Amino acid sequence: MAKQAFKAESKRLLEMMIHSVYSNKEIFLRELISNASDAIDKIYYKALTDDSLVFDKDSYYIKVKADKDQRTLTITDTGIGMTKDELESNLGTIAKSGSLAFKNENEIRDGHDIIGQFGVGFYSAFMVADHVTVITKALESDQAYKWESSGADGFTIEPVEKESVGTEIILKIKENTEDENYDEYLEEYRLRAIIKKHSDFIRYPIKMDVTERRLKEGSEDEYEDYIEEQTINSMVPIWRKNKNELTTEDYENFYHEKHYGFDKPIKHIHIKVDGTVRYNAILFIPEKIPFDYYTKEFEKGLELYSNGVLIMEKCGDLLPDYFSFVKGMVDSEDLSLNISREMLQQDRQLKFIAKNIKNKIKRELESLLKDDREHYEKFFEEFGRQLKFGVYNNFGQDKEVLQDLLLFYSSKEKKLVTLDEYVSRMAEDQKYIYYATGESIERIAKLPQTELVADKGYEILYFTDDVDEFAIKMLMSYKEKEFKNVASGDLGIEEEQDKKQTESEEKENKELLDYMKEVLSGKVKDVKISKRLKSHPVCLAADGEVSIEMEKILSAMPN
Ligand code: ADP
Ligand code: MG
Repeated sequence: MAKQAFKAESKRLLEMMIHSVYSNKEIFLRELISNASDAIDKIYYKALTDDSLVFDKDSYYIKVKADKDQRTLTITDTGIGMTKDELESNLGTIAKSGSLAFKNENEIRDGHDIIGQFGVGFYSAFMVADHVTVITKALESDQAYKWESSGADGFTIEPVEKESVGTEIILKIKENTEDENYDEYLEEYRLRAIIKKHSDFIRYPIKMDVTERRLKEGSEDEYEDYIEEQTINSMVPIWRKNKNELTTEDYENFYHEKHYGFDKPIKHIHIKVDGTVRYNAILFIPEKIPFDYYTKEFEKGLELYSNGVLIMEKCGDLLPDYFSFVKGMVDSEDLSLNISREMLQQDRQLKFIAKNIKNKIKRELESLLKDDREHYEKFFEEFGRQLKFGVYNNFGQDKEVLQDLLLFYSSKEKKLVTLDEYVSRMAEDQKYIYYATGESIERIAKLPQTELVADKGYEILYFTDDVDEFAIKMLMSYKEKEFKNVASGDLGIEEEQDKKQTESEEKENKELLDYMKEVLSGKVKDVKISKRLKSHPVCLAADGEVSIEMEKILSAMPN
């Protein structure tokens, strides 16, 4: 039988799996179980929306079976199965294509990082197996097929006999080496522990044949072993459990099992609402920006369930853009299963949930800021830009949500401060919230324009991010204090006396000023005498709404 080749990227990933020195190899089982669970979800969803199909809950399960003599580990599911075409495309191409493209060759050679950072899915089987067989029969097909591969040199597909719909994955477990123990993946106690740890919340039973010991019938001291099929996982989805039953580790395992990210989330948020609209949600604030966050591939959204059945993988309407980094899921009994993407956008319940979630995230971030400043600053380093863009993009519409979450560097405190902290420290005669813009904190500190304001003892916020000043323009004011660029014409601190003096000096030096204007014509609009300079001879000032920094950014933008 002719071997088919893997797509180039898949081949690379596969090779990496085969030679992996990754220490957390046990996750292969989580990957295969999660695929099995997805496949049952699909058939369940079909049955719920198609009257000609009956879904008898008891006949849907996942089974894990080890055979020590054959050195095989088999994962069977009663899910939707795969057609021949699906086998070819799903198992011949890496699902999360593109992930590898973001990594440089060194990282790929090492492999460790990739496995740690991406959902490597099906191919992770090759970390522990040297041969993988997939026998599958699709719901809509009469013929079953067998896919086989011993690694990177390709795979074969041939027709095979199989009675029932579903998939069986048979791993031929590798032999132990000097440094690696593979036997453990054939040990009952080890497999149970792995399932408990990574797959406990899978909604379908994960069954195993478990050896138990009992007293021999009629005997008082003689024991015998017998085998009993047991369900290993607790099956209650984590979001239905009570918060006090759950540990941070449970949430983190869920986060990883769901591939929300491979970092350790900074915070989890568990919401249970039992009002007019009922829903449960588990949300996570990641620690790290996802690798594809700033690419076109990135899609925001939460998983959406209708009473336990997944109806959409990424429901974007549940999150505002500025919270697009939030990961997680929402389950509501009040959403219809058959609802389409278009209808969802109009759905009142969904809008209600989205609003609720938005406010909840805001409150949670505020409490993080209040109670754990260090973590909040870490968070802000990663995602603060997103919040500032949020203020800007919505024309200040969501400023109530966002303004108290912003941090800026302070000239006085020499660290990040909130607007509230700034305002609470303002001097009595201070009219404005002053800010200065520039490339870096060091550069701004040397700006001549900051001198007068700093000399008055006022605090200055240093804006080093392009978006900062644009965002602040949208806010306009904070607690009734307007923002003022230290480079703007009227700083609101010149004394009357100074003003008069400036005027008369301008009259006296009219000729000089006119001459300067002529020389600089087309470069500046006006030349004025200034009282704001201490140690610098001259400075540039902006007249009007758009500052010099903003002009630079605007003129650099493509039209
Ligand atoms: P992902 O699960 O992220 O899509 P995987 O590499 O884990 O990526 O799986 C690739 C694809 O193979 C799945 O999307 C699915 O279509 C198919 N697949 C894998 N395992 C099964 C299974 N047990 N039953 C049906 N389809 C499966
Ligand atoms: Mg998968």
